[in-house]
Amino acid sequence: MRPTNPRGGHLGNYEGALRNWVNLQNEGYDMFCMVADWHALTTLDDTESLAQNTIEITKDYVAAGIDPSKSAIFVQSHVKEHAELHVLFSMVTPLGWLERTPTYKEKKDEIEGVEREPYGLLGYPVLQTADILLYRPYGVPVGRDQAPHLEIGNDIGLRFNRLFNTDVFETYKYLIPEDETRAKLPGLDMRKMSKSYDNCIFLSETEDETAAKVKSAYTTPSKIKKTDPGIPEGCAVCQYLKIYSPDWQTLWDEDRKGERGCMQNKTACIEAINEYFRPIRERRNALTNDDVQDILKEGAKKAREVAGETMDKVRSAMGLLRD
Ligand code: AMP
Repeated sequence: MRPTNPRGGHLGNYEGALRNWVNLQNEGYDMFCMVADWHALTTLDDTESLAQNTIEITKDYVAAGIDPSKSAIFVQSHVKEHAELHVLFSMVTPLGWLERTPTYKEKKDEIEGVEREPYGLLGYPVLQTADILLYRPYGVPVGRDQAPHLEIGNDIGLRFNRLFNTDVFETYKYLIPEDETRAKLPGLDMRKMSKSYDNCIFLSETEDETAAKVKSAYTTPSKIKKTDPGIPEGCAVCQYLKIYSPDWQTLWDEDRKGERGCMQNKTACIEAINEYFRPIRERRNALTNDDVQDILKEGAKKAREVAGETMDKVRSAMGLLRD
């Protein structure tokens, strides 16, 4: 995750990625959970809060259940092998693959003037490929929006193998939540939940802040009175109920039949979200900056071990002189 916000991660990050990370860890997978601070620089104008943002997102990982004694939790810029592999991959990645990336095209259009468009924006998927392939993973658990980048990553790995006649990299799986609501969680306005749309509920939010946000959420526009039929599929509050309330099916039926009002749904939704995140938020509030720094130091050590092994294989495959 990119540390782009002082509030840390939002419910979309949790549903698309973090929830899966915790499950995979608890199933026994070796997890490498990275905070992508270099990636944050591609869109962050102001870096004043970057270090603290990095701490905040790490708190989310730990509070959500990533256990530093089982999983490596680390910051991208602390493991320099990411930069080295990025440079080497940049030598074998065709420019056309990068120019076709949907995220690049979108972001490029948002930036005015060629002079302001950083190389890093175009090279983003190459760095991301280095982040992934350094750990030669079985799979990468992410939200739906990351699929195009993951595709390039596997292509770069295969191309590397072919060019240098090696089998260093194996194709990895995309571990995207099966449930589409989770894979692309809607924001309060029913667009994709995203920091750039200002439509997020953050894990770090208080119960009152959560309540205020849910009260402002988008509901069925044609449902004005309680008795008007609702369309839960298009209502942000009903989408959250589906995830966080065990009774969602009954609530959806009643909403459709005009037996429940939007305010009743919002009240149930606020309770369900706050109840689900209460233990996570309590753990989060108990973590200090120093705790996080210690965790990140240990995590970087674990990550460097595996990253170092991969780099030895890569340098040797490419014919670089050993130091
Ligand atoms: P980012 O905020 O771009 O660093 O994303 C971190 C992770 O959260 C990635 O795996 C994304 O796919 C995932 N993600 C971001 N927004 C959403 C969303 N609205 N729904 C589901 N997953 C998301």
